[in-house]
Amino acid sequence: MKKFINRPEDVVEEMLQGLVVLHPGCVRLPGHKALIRADAEHARGSQVAVLSGGGSGHEPAHAGYIGQAMLSAAVAGEVFTSPSSDTVFAAIQAVAGKSGALLVVKNYTGDRLNFGLAAEMAHAEGIPVEMIIVDDDVALSGIERVTGARGLAGTIFIHKLVGAAAAEGRSLAELAAIGRAAVGSMATMGVSFSAGTSPAVGRPSFELGEREMELGLGIHGEPGVKRMQLQPADELTETLLSAILQPGKFAAQKLVAAMINNLGATTEMELAIVARHAVSYLESKGFTVARVYAGTFLSSLDMAGISISVLGLDDERLRWIDADTKAPAWPNVLRQPPGKPTAQTAIQVGANVISAAGSGPQTEAGRKAKQAIDAACKAMIAAEDELAEMDRVTGDGDLGTNMARAAKAMQDSAYPLDDIPATLKALGHTLRRELGGSSGPLYGVLFLRCGSALEGARATGLAQWAEALHRGCQAISELGGAKPGDRTMLDALDPFARTLQQAVGLKAIPDAVLTALEAAERGVEATAQMKPRVGRSSYLGDRVLGYPDPGAKAVSIWLRAACNVLFPRF
Ligand code: ADP
Ligand code: MG
Repeated sequence: MKKFINRPEDVVEEMLQGLVVLHPGCVRLPGHKALIRADAEHARGSQVAVLSGGGSGHEPAHAGYIGQAMLSAAVAGEVFTSPSSDTVFAAIQAVAGKSGALLVVKNYTGDRLNFGLAAEMAHAEGIPVEMIIVDDDVALSGIERVTGARGLAGTIFIHKLVGAAAAEGRSLAELAAIGRAAVGSMATMGVSFSAGTSPAVGRPSFELGEREMELGLGIHGEPGVKRMQLQPADELTETLLSAILQPGKFAAQKLVAAMINNLGATTEMELAIVARHAVSYLESKGFTVARVYAGTFLSSLDMAGISISVLGLDDERLRWIDADTKAPAWPNVLRQPPGKPTAQTAIQVGANVISAAGSGPQTEAGRKAKQAIDAACKAMIAAEDELAEMDRVTGDGDLGTNMARAAKAMQDSAYPLDDIPATLKALGHTLRRELGGSSGPLYGVLFLRCGSALEGARATGLAQWAEALHRGCQAISELGGAKPGDRTMLDALDPFARTLQQAVGLKAIPDAVLTALEAAERGVEATAQMKPRVGRSSYLGDRVLGYPDPGAKAVSIWLRAACNVLFPRF
């Protein structure tokens, strides 16, 4: 387990100390693991206090929701452990005035017992208290259980609604009714690719295979209802949403808010991908998505998962959900309906069609060129995994996919094949556009310079090819600042061009090409011992020694494939 902690037993205490530093709007309730609004004294006279809490490990829940128009106090248990009734009671006493306190409790046995007992203690002291149980999980619906459904991220919607309504001055009874009605028109479903690791336990609470996901899980490390094969994001979004819509909680309400919640280790990128499809799926089912939120609302340590919550809206709920709050974890900015996802834009970015396609090559040279390009592309696609792994060790791992993508773009492009220099230049444009990374521009100049060199040459024999390649290598050096020996693609290309130049005239053409190819392949091997001076590998320094350069390897792969077609005798 690697975590930014000191001692596992201190995590909750030290987190609370940190939260008051980060959020001056809340202060520590002395002697308790609970935080309350810094202006609690002032607020208790004017509104019903709203409290929530539960085990820790769900940050920013619940302390992140403390603030005017959301929570008055949040009680924090140990990780995944219900807080004691003493602490809950102390928090109620600290924030409740004569209008009383509303407790928002997620439906877990421990929380129900401890918050319930604290409510009883408050009653006994003459403090009016109401409790709302949130049970928005639909994963277990249909399965008869005494414990009922769990409370998940929809709880944060409840905090928002009752918090805003309390700030408007609603009575305790009204708030309880508002909260309970909202729980009744809300549903949540979660999925995860890996479980979180509790600091005290030190390993994930369940294990999942490479291609598996856990559907319908809870937020305390308990496994879900179903283990399934991984699905692409859109399909998965529909799996979750169809479960959410199934109980028919929104039959009457066609206006909804949706929340895409990060359970801990999901990237913003993935949340956005899911949000985009969630909105279009809901709209395709006849709903109007008035608001959509994506972010970390209620997590489960570092679980790589998400949950989706849907809340039925009416005008009042929409007003409460939009109401300004001082709570640091609520996204105040999201106060407009979702934008319309743009349909795949039809603009063709960087068209690859260079010449009138259709007729195909007319000359023998053109046909050969086509075959050589096809062979090189196939070889690049086949080498994807190998190059990816090599670049993962010495760089950032993208070279395999980038090369394969560029190869596919070349396969889909039409080139003026009978005109070799023009084809080389056109290939340079495809590569510069499609390859990306550092290789993209470098391949771009290589092919552009080669094309120009051959254009100026009177013949296109092997000597001119060798000279053109040599100029191409110079172009790579000029643009990227690398010389042969710096552990780059040049360490394959330069020996090839030089050997070819020397062998022309001395050897039969296929032999000359073979010698040059062997020189390129020796060059690739040699890179394993070269110190990286340029590119991303240079950040790794001596750590890459012993591993050949992936860019050089890629060169040797497409060179051999192309030469096999052009000079078939070897
Ligand atoms: P990155 O991901 O680092 O932007 P790529 O993955 O596209 O780059 O390509 C990595 C390869 O590019 C390296 O293996 C190396 O052969 C080559 N390369 C990087 N920098 C240079 C440079 N300045 N000159 C020539 N080749 C370079
Ligand atoms: Mg790379």
